[in-house]
Amino acid sequence: MNRCSVCHGETTSKTITYTQWYEGKLIAVQNVPAEVCPTCGEEYFSPEVTDKIQKVIELHNSIATLEVPVYQLA
Ligand SMILES: [Zn+2]
Repeated sequence: MNRCSVCHGETTSKTITYTQWYEGKLIAVQNVPAEVCPTCGEEYFSPEVTDKIQKVIELHNSIATLEVPVYQLA
């Protein structure tokens, strides 16, 4: 059991979707284990998880994405 450093409430283990803006794009990483404070919503990650997230984001950045406009004919 960990304590929230913002409000000192007890945090609970959860699996969340982590989102971060990176070079103008919003990147979402699903199934991220985190300690979440139910009182103020602050999220805490272990150093291993933080490291993994960083690697995912770096990997994402090396993947070329192609955006196409979508038209509705109706
Ligand atoms: Zn808190």
